[in-house]
Amino acid sequence: MLKYIFIVGGVMSGVGKGVAAASIGKILQSRGFSVTAIKIDPYVNLDAGTMNPTEHGEVFVLNDGMECDQDMGNYERFLDCDLSSANYMTTGSVYQAVINRERNLGYGGKCVEVVPHICLEVLNKIDKAAAKSKANVVIVEIGGTVGEYQNILFLEAIRILKIKKPNDVLLSLVSHLPLQGSEGELKTKPTQYAARTLNAAGLQPDIIIARAPMPLDKKRKDKIAFNCSMAEEDVISAPDVNSIYEVPVNFEKDNLGGVILKKLKLKPKKQDLKDWEKLAEITRRAKNPVKIGIVGKYFGTGDFILADSYISVIEALKHSIYFFKKKPELHWLNADEFSGQDNLKKLSEYDGVVIPGGFGSRGVEGKIAAIRYLREKKIPFLGLCYGMQLAVIEYGRSVLRLKDANTTEINPEVQHPVIDILPEQKKLLEEKNYGGSMRLGAYPAVLKKGTIAYGAYKEHLISERHRHRYEVNPLYVKKLEEKGIVFSGFSPDRRLMEIAELPKKEHPFFVGTQFHPEFKSRPLSPHPLFREFVRAAINKKR
Ligand code: GLN
Repeated sequence: MLKYIFIVGGVMSGVGKGVAAASIGKILQSRGFSVTAIKIDPYVNLDAGTMNPTEHGEVFVLNDGMECDQDMGNYERFLDCDLSSANYMTTGSVYQAVINRERNLGYGGKCVEVVPHICLEVLNKIDKAAAKSKANVVIVEIGGTVGEYQNILFLEAIRILKIKKPNDVLLSLVSHLPLQGSEGELKTKPTQYAARTLNAAGLQPDIIIARAPMPLDKKRKDKIAFNCSMAEEDVISAPDVNSIYEVPVNFEKDNLGGVILKKLKLKPKKQDLKDWEKLAEITRRAKNPVKIGIVGKYFGTGDFILADSYISVIEALKHSIYFFKKKPELHWLNADEFSGQDNLKKLSEYDGVVIPGGFGSRGVEGKIAAIRYLREKKIPFLGLCYGMQLAVIEYGRSVLRLKDANTTEINPEVQHPVIDILPEQKKLLEEKNYGGSMRLGAYPAVLKKGTIAYGAYKEHLISERHRHRYEVNPLYVKKLEEKGIVFSGFSPDRRLMEIAELPKKEHPFFVGTQFHPEFKSRPLSPHPLFREFVRAAINKKR
């Protein structure tokens, strides 16, 4: 029988619902249950693909090409599973499904209404995703914060499900307790208001996960329990932690697994969080830093820095650095800073530098200048998607002496389009068909023996996730190879170049991938290319 755990957020956005949802999944997995996770986003966009990362954070890509919210990345990383588009929905996609069914007379002449039809479609999609993954427990995170007009619809769906299956649904509110003043106390009132807001929607939270700078004392727990009509043991402390991978271990300290199982009347089949505890231990104890720079441009939000746009890159780096039992020291470097010569020297302070994906012309010349410096000074470099394309452009300009080599993304008329759009992609752009139309999701690639890539994967055929329109122009492949670039990975039909690298005798680690390896790195099994990049970074330090 399927059990449902809903996660909603109170008090503020960015409170950590995604990590809480993923951690609850991890705990239940460790107790022997098969778990899947679903994210519901309240926006009207059909997917996250058309949004700027500074608006909504990273666009995560699934094997089947779904462009979705970054929380899906957390689920995959914590649960160590591959999710599909069935696990993601937005207000837009739910409405689209209902409207399509209505057009096909799927409602048999009835008046189709928001309540119940939209809500029932939400529940229908949840059941489908759970069936597809053969889960005993499905965790559903609802984006946004309770009280927003946008997510009322989803609260209503939970209410309907609770009527239908009173013993199988659990509602968890992730809240935040602000610390007032330097010697003040943790304040519970905003959490009480959030619980009351749920009450107004006909819902009572079963569990409150209280995010705060420190663990809650008994007094705070009592206060929340009393005012929100629940038992003290149902209030779980979620203090700030050094690394998100400590969260499941911390939750278990407050017996969250036990509380959930009791409420859902489930008997644990085992309890084994050992690997994860070991990882948490490493994240706490690691001392020797590995200093990595990330040269990007999606950092700014007003006066604040937002690392969310590159979250999978950051996590992939951490997985590999923890693998070597070292301490991640990651720095955000704004690409624009590197268009002048002076700042380039700064790059030698880093043990390695990553240039992640991107779109458009802003920051590009700075990234190209940085790549040139990294190549010449033999500093470990990992280029992801745009990062790989720009490495090819830099090589074209500096080594092949094609002075104006570029991508047609920036200059369609360029004399040397070393990076160019595929004819099928060109047609889509002419039709203004931008949504969900890039080369998306998992594609196979063949690796060349004796290369850095082959040495990392130790496999002949790999599968990696993509999100791009442009490719290395086949007309330049031979010329680039003659001058030293090794295309160590390519599509099975050899039409598309997937990995570009320089031989080890030329450079300790200079690798670019057309795909996004960061999407497949997992905390206990770091991605092979990130792992080798970090190994090279550690060697440089020595
Ligand atoms: N803008 C490039 C393209 O569309 C790279 C995309 C990316 O880095 N994800 O091909």
